[in-house]
Amino acid sequence: MEEEWTCGHVAGAMCQECYRLLAQRAHELAEENLRLKTLDPILTEREYMDWLGISAPTAQRQRSEGSGPPFVQLSERRIGYRRSAVEQWLRERTVVRIDDKD
Ligand SMILES: [Zn+2]
Repeated sequence: MEEEWTCGHVAGAMCQECYRLLAQRAHELAEENLRLKTLDPILTEREYMDWLGISAPTAQRQRSEGSGPPFVQLSERRIGYRRSAVEQWLRERTVVRIDDKD
């Protein structure tokens, strides 16, 4: 429908200013997407294990116990970890001293 492209400023079309704003918004969204992919990538299980220096059984146990960081079920057999989720989990587990009260 042509009408969908009408911004209301001119009949049956989009005015230059609105077109410019739309293009700018699209550009910003694309940049944001790229930023997220770059700064907050989804790590593979391998990358996650290497980063923390843990074994596959440990990672598996974390997932079944729910003791590890939240993960993403990418497909039936593939999982991933969003880097920001792992960082958040690490922050929550960061301690300043041993609790000897037990
Ligand atoms: Zn307009």
